[in-house]
Amino acid sequence: MRYVSTRDNSKEYSFEDVFIKGLADDGGLYIPKLLKKYNTEELSELKNLNYNELSTEIINQFSSDFISKDELSSLVSKSYSTFREKEVVKMSSAGELKLLELFHGPTLAFKDVAMQFIGNLYEYYLSKNNNKINIVVATSGDTGAAAINAIKGKSNLNIFVLHPNNRISSVQRKLMTTVDEKNVFNIAIEGNFDDCQNIVKQMFSDLEFSKSINMSGVNSINWVRIIAQTVYYFYSYFKLDKETISFSVPTGNFGDVFAGYLSKKMGLPIDKLIVATNENDILHRAISKGDYVSREVKETLSPSMDIQLASNFERLIYYINNSDSEKTTEIMKKVKQNSYQIEKNNLDIIHKDFLSESCNEQETLEIIKKNYEENNIILDPHTAVGVGAAKKLSFNDCVVLATAHPCKFPDATNNAINKHEKLPDELQHVLDKKENFQVLKNNTDDVKNFVKSKI
Ligand SMILES: *Cc1c(COP(=O)(O)O)cnc(C)c1O
Repeated sequence: MRYVSTRDNSKEYSFEDVFIKGLADDGGLYIPKLLKKYNTEELSELKNLNYNELSTEIINQFSSDFISKDELSSLVSKSYSTFREKEVVKMSSAGELKLLELFHGPTLAFKDVAMQFIGNLYEYYLSKNNNKINIVVATSGDTGAAAINAIKGKSNLNIFVLHPNNRISSVQRKLMTTVDEKNVFNIAIEGNFDDCQNIVKQMFSDLEFSKSINMSGVNSINWVRIIAQTVYYFYSYFKLDKETISFSVPTGNFGDVFAGYLSKKMGLPIDKLIVATNENDILHRAISKGDYVSREVKETLSPSMDIQLASNFERLIYYINNSDSEKTTEIMKKVKQNSYQIEKNNLDIIHKDFLSESCNEQETLEIIKKNYEENNIILDPHTAVGVGAAKKLSFNDCVVLATAHPCKFPDATNNAINKHEKLPDELQHVLDKKENFQVLKNNTDDVKNFVKSKI
């Protein structure tokens, strides 16, 4: 498969460019030149595959000029052997709603599904290329832990993770900072997630710097993350065995829900995708009213969604503008000036596939309480936002993506129901192990100097 950039689709790229570079040199995001679309017959052939087989089939559509199907298959099996569920993900219910539990990986959030695979894909790449790679990534809480777990101890790879100081849950932080490996570096930035993400972007766009350290990224715009995430949309559709399916997706950077949209473009009969946000509701305002203007980031109970600049939204903008990269470039200029209002005709196109809702803090706590009382389950605050959005839209027949294990957010659940879930036994040790991280100012040069001093 060949790829193009959302900002200039006259130039083609390989899977290797897409995977290792992450972002195109013109600042755009990579997108397939032509997408494989499954017809009904092909879909029914995928129906009875187990999770690993399905992953291999789907990912292979995108990566066959980089890795053979056999090698991919063994890499997928290795990646998902670290999960506590044999079938990687699990379907359960919350009353009438279905939950798709995506948090059975090593760091208890859906980010593991893509990241375990990516860690092994780097290893595969480095086994064929005599290179050293430095991964730099910003996290709103869960990406960092998942990336560290996937990369720790691997040779010729270092990982630097920037998290917003004091703005993630202590369990989230400890899952990153207690990992004692020579190739893992944690940095706490005095700022919010968008600040962390900006620093990483600036480091990437300083080509002299980023080339000199062979910098690579695993942030949510990484295309490989997106394709690995499409697999569970297909998997849950086959499990549910209905004609069409809708999903409610707790959303921050628009990565996970974009994977749903991509699945639909690949032929999966998805009816609606609900974009569920917390009080950082730019995507809800954008999808309901066209107002894509960011405001101050608020700290909420669901910190992994405390984001105002949803990087992956650019991919949707590209698609709804008929893959017109000039138009996308123009719109992204307006986004940069924080003045983009989505045109009425484009909004109509968006509404064919998407709905949106937002839940405030009080509502999130009430949803956790109600589900505990009525269904005897403890929802993590992100999943609670997904459940709340589906309820507000009266979408009772839909699948909510359960994106994190409730034990990762004990303060939120204690607040709602005076209870918290315990960490799985194999992770108990992170609670009292020594933490290691460097606090740095919200300043790109400071971070660059720190990275240089460590490699
Ligand atoms: C990252 C994250 C989200 C948001 O996912 P995006 O792909 O950024 O939209 C939601 N819930 C949890 C628990 C997360 O870690």
